[in-house]
Amino acid sequence: MSDLRDLYQEVILEHSKAPRNFHEMPGADRKADGDNPLCGDHYTVYLHMEGDAIRDISFQGAGCAISKASASMMTQVLKGKTRAEAERLFDEFHRLVTGQGLPAEGADLGKLAVFSGVSEFPARVKCATLAWHTLHAALQGEAEAALPD
Ligand code: ZN
Repeated sequence: MSDLRDLYQEVILEHSKAPRNFHEMPGADRKADGDNPLCGDHYTVYLHMEGDAIRDISFQGAGCAISKASASMMTQVLKGKTRAEAERLFDEFHRLVTGQGLPAEGADLGKLAVFSGVSEFPARVKCATLAWHTLHAALQGEAEAALPD
């Protein structure tokens, strides 16, 4: 189990050092900002929608390793997904990191499962979900993410 944990930590560190899709998107048709004052994480998520699908997604900003790795992996997972699929993944990811049991049957969190360890550290849940809340805001056409208390 601790080997698995080390592996998870490695994946998170690797993504935080070399985040994917980490750039501004000049042609973005939606973008939103997200702030996690508890930790000092702040990101902007950019979307290029094609109908109901996420054709392209990127992000910029700064924060701790967990928040950055989460944003990086989120952009990888969501490219090509529909809005409904993205919201469903957010829901499953949120359940995972808050320890509300395993994702629903048929869940396809894939690599995002590396964040399951976050459920043991409630203070880091907002780090892990910040990018997702920001994505949600962008999908809703809002400029700023609202993080739950
Ligand atoms: Zn953080």
